[in-house]
Amino acid sequence: MGPDIQFVKRISYNGESQIYIPASSFKGALRSSASRIAESYGFKSCEEIRPERIREKHEKIGGICNVCELFGYPGSNLPSPLIFSDLLPTGPVETLALTRVRIDDRSMRTAEGALFSTEYIPPQCEFAGTIELINVPEEKTILLPLSLAELRLGRIGRGSGLIDLKIENADELDNVLKNTVWSNLLNELKEWLWNDYP
Ligand SMILES: [Zn+2]
Repeated sequence: MGPDIQFVKRISYNGESQIYIPASSFKGALRSSASRIAESYGFKSCEEIRPERIREKHEKIGGICNVCELFGYPGSNLPSPLIFSDLLPTGPVETLALTRVRIDDRSMRTAEGALFSTEYIPPQCEFAGTIELINVPEEKTILLPLSLAELRLGRIGRGSGLIDLKIENADELDNVLKNTVWSNLLNELKEWLWNDYP
């Protein structure tokens, strides 16, 4: 779980705290993945995450881009066709505190007063949730599995977090993608990628 996906602690009525990943966190991370890969697969992307700049970018490219079409965009009066649920832990989760040193990006030296502490979720904690696709045209559906694949590959080599994911209950997606070149990708996404992660 890298810093790209924020988790939240909430306190329930009986005083126990529950850790979960809000729908908006996961959707945001997946949207960034979609922006990164969209153009390589022939989709249009405004490559913009800052809401105030999206409209400007769309004017430049002459319309709503495919990423915004799928993930929604500010000022739209239509709901996003992708509906995410919160991701809830499938078992007990303890967070660990980790003290880190902040490095100044420009000088690559330790920044002054740079010790900071973050909480993170240790590996092998599993969260589950749903993504619904509502009225997404077939040719655009593939952007979702492509983005999921990018999300779990994207952290390689950066060392700041690792996320794995898999798709379960994908019957409907199977129906859309079977007999296309994408059925293999979907099958891969039904298995963990980081099987040997200790
Ligand atoms: Zn856009």
